[in-house]
Amino acid sequence: MSNGSNGASAGVGFTLTEEQKMIQKLARDFAVNAMAPYAEHFDKVPGYPWEIVRKAQQQALTTLNVPEEYGGMGLSLFEEMLVGEEMAWACSGINLCITINNLAALPLLVGGSHEQKAEYLGRLVDGKLAAYALTEPGAGSDVAALKAIARKDGDDYILNGTKTFISGATVADWYTVFAYTHPEKRYKGITAFLVDRNMPGVSVGKPFDKLGQRASDTAEVVLEDVRVPARNIIGSEGTGFLIAMKVFDRSRPGVAAAATGVAQRALDESVKFAKERYTMGKPIYKHQAVGHLIADMATKVEAARLLTWQAAVAFDEGRPDIKLASMAKVFAADAAMQITTDAVQVHGGYGYISEYPVEKLMRDAKIFQIYEGTSQIQRVVITRELFR
Ligand SMILES: Cc1cc2nc3c(=O)[nH]c(=O)nc-3n(C[C@H](O)[C@H](O)[C@H](O)COP(=O)(O)OP(=O)(O)OC[C@H]3O[C@@H](n4cnc5c(N)ncnc54)[C@H](O)[C@@H]3O)c2cc1C
Repeated sequence: MSNGSNGASAGVGFTLTEEQKMIQKLARDFAVNAMAPYAEHFDKVPGYPWEIVRKAQQQALTTLNVPEEYGGMGLSLFEEMLVGEEMAWACSGINLCITINNLAALPLLVGGSHEQKAEYLGRLVDGKLAAYALTEPGAGSDVAALKAIARKDGDDYILNGTKTFISGATVADWYTVFAYTHPEKRYKGITAFLVDRNMPGVSVGKPFDKLGQRASDTAEVVLEDVRVPARNIIGSEGTGFLIAMKVFDRSRPGVAAAATGVAQRALDESVKFAKERYTMGKPIYKHQAVGHLIADMATKVEAARLLTWQAAVAFDEGRPDIKLASMAKVFAADAAMQITTDAVQVHGGYGYISEYPVEKLMRDAKIFQIYEGTSQIQRVVITRELFR
């Protein structure tokens, strides 16, 4: 067993406990029965998959990381990965709608007070949704370029700014918002706030039309002189950047698990198709070029899953590893993009038309290389950690 500083082997065989197998089966059944049959519809027809999200709420799938003391599932990150992969296998867009609360809850789990958790996580347990609002039109990879500003006014703060590309923005009851309280201090001047959707001055744009994960909504959140009480600061003034970085330890394996689910689906569809499709008198998998392509797809799926699980286990064992989380995210995202593209190739012309699910998988996979830090940024993080 290694616990070396290089973040090598998590030292476990990843044998699932009976309880973990049960959680995985619950997610798989939900994915197969309640999500997969509607994936195509929500890809093609605009509209939010409320009915599916409500069903997920009934099974507590929207509060996976909310601790049991606040009424949630209280899953470990590893267990969360099991669930996320299964649901993304069915539809990563609907999965994002179901799991967005996980992301919104993370700043609270990292730095929130008991009162804040009881109130805001409690709302999630009661069936509300929330969103995570960090990105701005001029600040994605470059977090320090944030323009959102929170000016102190008595016991309150007045927030102004525009957040963009916010998943779940149109359906959220509250947002975790990052803004400068002291811009001159750069990273050390960023503060995280809990902002209620119904606070005067909060407005939400129309969902963007996008390439993939179309079941999920992505929109702007505009803050105009929004009066937020000081008690809604998560942690303390100036800790926002640190909180956002700690969120990544947990959120990046989550994205990696979803990417693995999409990649697994592309592999499954390819195996099925390659057995059924005949050319030159034999199923296409018997042409070595196709068989080996699928072998490489399968190998990458396994590697993505193992890296994801390793990052999750490291976190669960109390040694969160930013490098491992970035490695899992970049590897799984890039693998999902490659594997879904190869799945289209395996399907030939049928892969390119929407009667088969693989063109959707390819469109869905692209975003994994962009959100929660682009693939380029993950490599920046990994390099920085290696040479620290
Ligand atoms: C569908 C969708 C959902 C999203 N959901 C959320 C959400 O819920 N909450 C939220 O806060 N944000 C969300 N985002 C925002 C997302 O995290 C950002 O888009 C992402 O971090 C990239 O930022 P950017 O778009 O500003 O690109 P930029 O940062 O402008 O990057 C442009 C290009 O330059 C590269 N680049 C930039 N800087 C460097 C560098 N230093 N080194 C190497 N390459 C670099 C990038 O990799 C990229 O290829 C979402 C985005 C989308 C599209």
